[in-house]
Parts: sequence; C-alpha cells; structure tokens
Amino acid sequence: MNDPFVELRRNMVERQLRARGLRDEAVLRAMGKVPRELFMEEGLRGSSYADGPLPIGCGQTISQPYIVAYMTELLGLAGGERVLEIGTGSGYQAAVLAETAARVYTVEVIPELSRAASGLLLGRLNYQNVFFKIGRGQEGWPEFAPYDRIIVTAAPAEFPERLFGQLGEGGIAVAPVGADSQRLVRYVKRDGMIRADELIGVIFVPLV
Ligand code: SAH
Repeated sequence: MNDPFVELRRNMVERQLRARGLRDEAVLRAMGKVPRELFMEEGLRGSSYADGPLPIGCGQTISQPYIVAYMTELLGLAGGERVLEIGTGSGYQAAVLAETAARVYTVEVIPELSRAASGLLLGRLNYQNVFFKIGRGQEGWPEFAPYDRIIVTAAPAEFPERLFGQLGEGGIAVAPVGADSQRLVRYVKRDGMIRADELIGVIFVPLV
C-alpha cells in the first residue's frame, strides 16, 4: 500500500473539486478512483494531479481535473446513460464517464491517440463499457444514436448540427464553443428544441 498517487488523488478531489463547489458524489468518487497518472507521458507522471491541463502528445492536452469533473457533473448522470464523447485524447474523460454512466462511445480523429487510449482502457484498466471510433467527431457516431448525453472535449466554432440530431429527447450536451474565445455551453433537448446555457470561459484545443 505504498502508492503515492492515492494520496495525491485524494487531495485533488478535496482541494480542486469539492473545495470549488463540485457536489456530485458519483463524479467525485470516479475522480478519486481513475488513476490519472496512467494517462500521462512517463516524464509527466509526477505532475498528474497538478491543477491544470498537461500535454498528452500529438500536440493535444488532457484537461485540468476540475474541468473534467465539472463537465461530467453538468451531464447530470444517474448511471444508466449512453454517452457520446468527441475527442478521446488520452481516454481519461472516457474513463471517468465509464465510472459514472452505462456506456461510453468515444470518437477521436488522431489514430495513435485512439489506439493508445483503447489499449489502456480495454487492456490495463479492463473497462468493458467503452467503445472507440477513429474519425471526425463532427459526424458523431450514427450507428449507436440516439445518445442520452454528448460531451465534446475539443472546441468547435459552433456546436455541430449533426450531433444535435444524435442527441435523444431530454438529452444533455456539453461543449466548449467559440473560435477566438470559448465558453462552456450546456444544451438541453426538449420536444425536439435545443435550449443553450452559456457557462464559464474555457480554453480547449480546436475541433479540427
Ligand atoms: N478528452 C480528452 C482530452 C481531449 S483533447 C482526455 O480526457 O484526455 C482534444 C482531443 O480532441 C484531441 O485528442 C484531438 O485530437 C481531438 N480532436 C480534435 N478535433 C477532432 C475532431 N474533429 N474529431 C474527433 N476528435 C478531435
């Protein structure tokens, strides 16, 4: 029982998440469980629980823990949902979703990132409820639509219309949106109509 990351993970949950007002216990539990250090390049493992984003290779980044937890909380998960994620990256957000939802469908445009993430989640971490696709996230993943939730983790100038089409009735989508400056936006679909709420300012890599 000498894993130094256990303590770092616990401190991250208390100081970065709970202290800043995050309250969804299922999300906090997932953040306290998923070994973020495994999603890092080896030289950066020591910084895994730092309060900021970190590079994951291919010019991409893994989001700050707070942003991962906040976006997950915004999805309002009860546990039985099917979730579409755009931007697999390291697979860390997908792992947090795998802990808090029923099934996760995650799409990544850079093949080597998708392969590394699926190797880690399906192999080492043994998640059986995460499905990986290599492709352009703007197209979503029509075969498994509609989704109860959609989370986009790279920033489009505007939310891709196709993804609204793959969101089920009563569904929630969360995305960083904007070309120059970005805001996190939460969308709710009711009676086929989309209502948008703009939240905090954020900085994500662009959806290409
Ligand atoms: N969710 C990730 C972080 C995302 S970083 C994690 O937890 O680590 C943003 C990711 O979106 C990058 O991996 C980038 O390659 C990917 N991306 C950018 N444009 C995309 C597109 N059009 N379709 C799918 N993925 C895209």
